[in-house]
Amino acid sequence: MNFRKTAPVSLVCISLLASMISISCTQVSAPADKIGVVVSILPLVEFAESVGGDKVAVSVMVPPGAEPHSYEPKPSQMTALAKARLYAKVGSGIEFEIGYIDKLADINKAMLVIDSSKGIDLIKSEDPDDPGMDPHIWTSPKNAMIMVGNICDGLIQIDPSNKAYYETNRDTYIQKLTRLDEDIRKGLDPAKNRSFIIYHPAFGYFARDYNLTQIGIEQEGKEPTAAYVTRVIKEAKEKNSRVIFVSPQFSQKSAEVIAQEIGGTVLPVDNLAKNYISNMETIKDAMIKAMK
Ligand SMILES: [Zn+2]
Repeated sequence: MNFRKTAPVSLVCISLLASMISISCTQVSAPADKIGVVVSILPLVEFAESVGGDKVAVSVMVPPGAEPHSYEPKPSQMTALAKARLYAKVGSGIEFEIGYIDKLADINKAMLVIDSSKGIDLIKSEDPDDPGMDPHIWTSPKNAMIMVGNICDGLIQIDPSNKAYYETNRDTYIQKLTRLDEDIRKGLDPAKNRSFIIYHPAFGYFARDYNLTQIGIEQEGKEPTAAYVTRVIKEAKEKNSRVIFVSPQFSQKSAEVIAQEIGGTVLPVDNLAKNYISNMETIKDAMIKAMK
């Protein structure tokens, strides 16, 4: 009679011990009953979790506070990829992926690597000194819808038995993105001054989709020269811009210089936050305020 009572307790102990071991050994490996999904940057965590629901365990390569233009994965992250079944790369030419994606894929040849940018119309980098494409596709909710669709296709490819589940989740999340897109459009519609200044120009796709002009301060990913800062100040005055946006991952020095010169303020916007939709709502409100 007592057996029934004690058995579950010891089972709990064993599973607790197992989960403690798996936490201490790796950062990325998923519990046995979940599909291990790895993404490069935090916004894609919300995309993958929204579609994958309780079937997936999602990990990120570029951790909070780091930025994907210069981040190098830790050896522990590379080995931990061994158990993942799906890698969703941004795919738009972000430096972190250019340098490492082949090595990451080599570690785990069974892992499916999908390109979440498939079907997105890439635009040229805002930086006049950069000949490449602008990698920051995720800052536009319209692009996010395409990325979510690509992640969903990847999950169905490795786990076809749950196709209907993933598709329902995808559609629910895309509905939220559609509402976000409409909120941004309506919110920015009356704005007369349609340009904004930003230290790290990560909102090129956002600017394209909502008919705005992004003025970046950074040059080739570095602090700009004094001559360039002077040029931005002139442009800001011409366009009557009073707000300079900065991402928390970057220096605020030149942004503060420019803000002082134009009698404006520095406002934080984070293009790499994990809570994508709520973060984009915050960014929308800040943009509406700045462009009144
Ligand atoms: Zn960036």
